[in-house]
Amino acid sequence: MTANSTRKLLTAVDRWYRRHARVLPWRVGPAERDAGFRPDPYRVWLSEVMLQQTTIPHATPYFERFVARWPAVGALAEASWEDVSAAWAGLGYYSRARNLHACAKAVAACGSFPQDATSLRELPGVGPYTAAAIASIVFDERIAPVDGNIERVVSRLWAIPSDRTEAGWRAAKVVIATRAQELAVALPKGGRAGDLAQALMDLGATICTPKKPNCLTCPLNVMCAARAEGAPERYPIKAEKRAVPTRYGSAFVLTRGRQIMLVRRPPAGLLGGMMMPPTSAWTEHKLPDPLAGAPGEFAWEHVGEIRHVFTHFALRLDVWRAAAPARAKTAGEWMASDSALAAMPTVGRKAVALAIR
Ligand code: SF4
Repeated sequence: MTANSTRKLLTAVDRWYRRHARVLPWRVGPAERDAGFRPDPYRVWLSEVMLQQTTIPHATPYFERFVARWPAVGALAEASWEDVSAAWAGLGYYSRARNLHACAKAVAACGSFPQDATSLRELPGVGPYTAAAIASIVFDERIAPVDGNIERVVSRLWAIPSDRTEAGWRAAKVVIATRAQELAVALPKGGRAGDLAQALMDLGATICTPKKPNCLTCPLNVMCAARAEGAPERYPIKAEKRAVPTRYGSAFVLTRGRQIMLVRRPPAGLLGGMMMPPTSAWTEHKLPDPLAGAPGEFAWEHVGEIRHVFTHFALRLDVWRAAAPARAKTAGEWMASDSALAAMPTVGRKAVALAIR
């Protein structure tokens, strides 16, 4: 793309964004930027962490609750892990909640968020994408955060090829990141790099959608190579998906009146530090004794199976329930069923919901 074409592209994106920017609770839109408002790094950081692997409609209520309860990073830093993990429950990928809390403490200790991508990356849980997103959106650093939307738009604009192998897709991603970065650095110094990033995100989310890109209304249609080829939806050309393995286990829902016994999982590992009903180990084959790992000698009744998909495997849990006598000795924490449901990650909620329905 020539310098002239790049300028035209940036102008078209900017015009489109000024008219069509999505209104999001963590965003300072183009008109507000014109009026002198700046994005709040705490809100942008929080939204970016929450939006990894989940959708805006799902993450938004969590965002609203977090900022209502902890309106600044210092307040979040002072919150207890129990409160943060309970507020995060249902957002998935629980190591992010631990990193979120650790990051809030690190920022509070420094007094403020660092203002460039390189320094932001030193914070707990802040990888290259999140650092680039905060640096560009909040501080207008000319760096391109490549999320799924930007990846799709850029791969189509340049019709970036791949051979559907893992290696081919890795190479294509390098080209996509390079093209996106070329756009960012083509902005004039002091230009609104954050608006460019958010405009491309919005374009991917609303016009250049995965299955049915609306090329007719796209501000970039005359310069889009994938559209010129005739089948833009074939981009990005990712590697063929491999089937995820299945693991098996049991979950034990122990009740006492309207209370449920939960245990806190160890801090490291999957669902680390989250409240869950006790479970067996999760193994590649069904356990010979499905009650191995049950918390005590109770009259366990099998109530069914729940399924849950994590990033790297699918989980099938046999759910068992039992009622504990009033004075039974148990190792976990008794919680009212409503509070228990609110405090657990989705997989735990599924198991408890099945047991107490
Ligand atoms: S012309 Fe179509 S494929 Fe190309 S960027 Fe626009 S919406 Fe996407």
